[in-house]
Amino acid sequence: MHYFRYRGNVLYCDSVRVKDIAEKAGTPVYIYSHRTLIEHYRKIKNAFASLRPLICFSMKSNSSLALCRALVKAGSGLDIVSGGELFKALKIGADPGKIVYASVGKTPDEISRAIKAGILFFNVESIPELCAIEKMCGRLKKRAKISLRVNPEVDAHTHHYITTGTQENKFGIDIDTVTKIFRQKDCYRHLDIVCLHVHIGSQITESGPFVKAVRKVSSLIRLLRSEGHKIDYLNIGGGMGIVYRKERPQTAADFAKAVAPLIKKLGVKLILEPGRFISGNSGILVAKVLYVKKSKSKNFIITDAAMNDLARPSLYGAYHEIVPVHRSSSSRARMKYDVVGPICESGDFLAKGRRLAAVKEGELLAVMGAGAYGFAMSSNYNARPRSAEVMAIGRNFYVTRKRETYADLVRGERIPGVLK
Ligand code: PLP
Repeated sequence: MHYFRYRGNVLYCDSVRVKDIAEKAGTPVYIYSHRTLIEHYRKIKNAFASLRPLICFSMKSNSSLALCRALVKAGSGLDIVSGGELFKALKIGADPGKIVYASVGKTPDEISRAIKAGILFFNVESIPELCAIEKMCGRLKKRAKISLRVNPEVDAHTHHYITTGTQENKFGIDIDTVTKIFRQKDCYRHLDIVCLHVHIGSQITESGPFVKAVRKVSSLIRLLRSEGHKIDYLNIGGGMGIVYRKERPQTAADFAKAVAPLIKKLGVKLILEPGRFISGNSGILVAKVLYVKKSKSKNFIITDAAMNDLARPSLYGAYHEIVPVHRSSSSRARMKYDVVGPICESGDFLAKGRRLAAVKEGELLAVMGAGAYGFAMSSNYNARPRSAEVMAIGRNFYVTRKRETYADLVRGERIPGVLK
């Protein structure tokens, strides 16, 4: 569900014509629908309303300041994975008491900054990391709240690059080791270890794996409590899938129905870290058709957007629906195309073998469902300036990130004097 809809043959974002945005901001351009964004945040918040959860939007899916600010303003907390995301979170006035921080490789500098900021939880992924946080707290004479990320050994049945809850993955701590840490928790004098965290992967379309994971951590919580340990919080991560093509993912309500009763029984404060569910369908990438090229065996649409703008198709073979920004009123034959960018890689594509109504040079195409892991994963590969970002709010739109310039590409670079 989203608010990128046709009125007649014209694609709108909320109440703004996508074409008008592209004319003002140029292409390629990421366009976000404020209304879609906030509705998705509320959907998950409302589904779990009886548990009064803390929703921490996962910034890794989209760390646009404007987008994150809109969510923070609506009451969201933030899930961060780096010092850079902490910096951005604080810059937009997020409440540190609603920030949780996961990552297998937090550096001493990142740990120190997060302790000083007073974040809600470090989601800790190993014993060495726990020791590093304890040491830093000692040095800073501060305390930190700790959530141990449990690796529940549950297969999320999603793409192997975004499966995180099995033994094969680098994430989390196995159940036996978590138990040992609790038994030795007095060694960590500056840490309050009061939360368990579990995140099993991304783009998970069924509730089953979540239920399995929550059952496993529930048993663990019961065991730990029976030994006298205090566990006040449970963070069940993110990972809820969205519709890219023909998936029929569980709705927020289905998801809550499946897991909320298990959590209610535990009497813990619930934290969720959805990223894609909130931002995914809130954004599109609009590209201009540069050329239509016919080879002996294929038709190519060459757009001004490439894998550096949207990596998901190249990286995961991900499917994104592609639609015209202006539908032709005359009927056009449907043709099979590879939609590709200008980058010098055969892996540079937005879609392969896609049937589309015949496309002409200069037309605009919208790549749907690009709000999560879209701009966030973009790069300057092939010395391509990164695209602009725009947010539509009601009848207005705002450029929330300027298109990079060639000068931006070399900012910070230096040629050593000996080479001059
Ligand atoms: N939490 C953690 C620890 C993650 O690693 C991720 C993404 O992989 C998320 C939350 C957000 O996941 P999603 O965008 O699938 O909701």
